[in-house]
Amino acid sequence: MLDFIPDNPYILLTPGPLSTSKGVRAAMLRDWCTWDADYNEDIVQNIRSRLVALATKDTENYTVVLMQGSGSFSVEACLGTAMPRDGKLLILTNGAYGDRMAEMAQVLGIEHTKVDLGEVAAPTAGDLEEILENDPKLTHVAFVHCETTTGMLNPLAELSEVVKRFGKTLIVDAMSSFGGIPMDIGQLGIDYLVSSSNKCVQGVPGFGFVIAKKAELEKCAGNARSLCMDLVGQWKDMDKSGKWRYTSPTHVVRAFYQALDELEQEGGIEARYERYKENHHVLVDGMRELGFQTLLPDEYQAPIITSFLYPNDEFEFMPFYEAVKAQGFVLYPGKISQADTFRIGNIGEVYPEDMSRLIKAIRSAI
Ligand SMILES: *Cc1c(COP(=O)(O)O)cnc(C)c1O
Repeated sequence: MLDFIPDNPYILLTPGPLSTSKGVRAAMLRDWCTWDADYNEDIVQNIRSRLVALATKDTENYTVVLMQGSGSFSVEACLGTAMPRDGKLLILTNGAYGDRMAEMAQVLGIEHTKVDLGEVAAPTAGDLEEILENDPKLTHVAFVHCETTTGMLNPLAELSEVVKRFGKTLIVDAMSSFGGIPMDIGQLGIDYLVSSSNKCVQGVPGFGFVIAKKAELEKCAGNARSLCMDLVGQWKDMDKSGKWRYTSPTHVVRAFYQALDELEQEGGIEARYERYKENHHVLVDGMRELGFQTLLPDEYQAPIITSFLYPNDEFEFMPFYEAVKAQGFVLYPGKISQADTFRIGNIGEVYPEDMSRLIKAIRSAI
């Protein structure tokens, strides 16, 4: 039925945008009116209620605000709206995305402390307790769940427990894990979770979203440092009718609706998590057989994206990349300072068979 949609020339083994299904791409082939109920009620409000239900069983106390732009825009909107003028933010970082939150806080004039834990270590509950005990001025804590820079899975439950015990507000960048790793943000006590259309839900890029505790967001009117990126303003308008304050990326939103349907058809987040784990397993086993080593020990590794060390001093990424791309797979360069690495993602419309074919392609490329 979808034969009229062209195949992709290669699979994107990147952390987003990622390879999407033909169904998702086909869903973009009509136009929508941004004030008609066909779009606002049937698409936007439907997406909003499904997102909250994916995030928690406590659907009464949470809401979601969709925001134009890439994922970073939603992180910035969240920090800029959630932080009161007299608040102080702790950012735990172990990679580029944690660092980016600190840059945002800097630009927005938000008082903050950045604690850098090093790219290859995960923060512990003990680290966090110590920081919070030593600085009672801190009101909010932010960290990244899956740090896509390396593939590190930070200990969400342990850290959340400490934040809640200290009575602080919790902001989690779960950009590259939401939809691919099961979690209940109500149970975890997360106040704000940020993700985007083009990661594990497997839509196309164009908007992000913040799933927020209503009681927290209610307190934030007037906090925003930006008109367009005021989450409360967007929320209040969107809640009325599903209308975004300013032009919404209609085709992207419709594709996301389709992506949510496909997530349900797959069996929900649990089933997707199982597929991603299997993809990851085939990838890492195959790469180890070829003599590659992972940057991170297995206990820290998320089943989302994996950093591999260069196998030797002669290794050059670009010729390797081109040889693998010629066989239908696009890889991702490394992004860390401590070691020469490249990365391979395993999220998106990608299956264990694809990972097996990838290993064969890499064998021939080396
Ligand atoms: C992808 C990603 C983002 C957002 O990046 P954009 O390029 O703005 O979409 C933020 N945090 C993490 C952890 C990510 O993986």
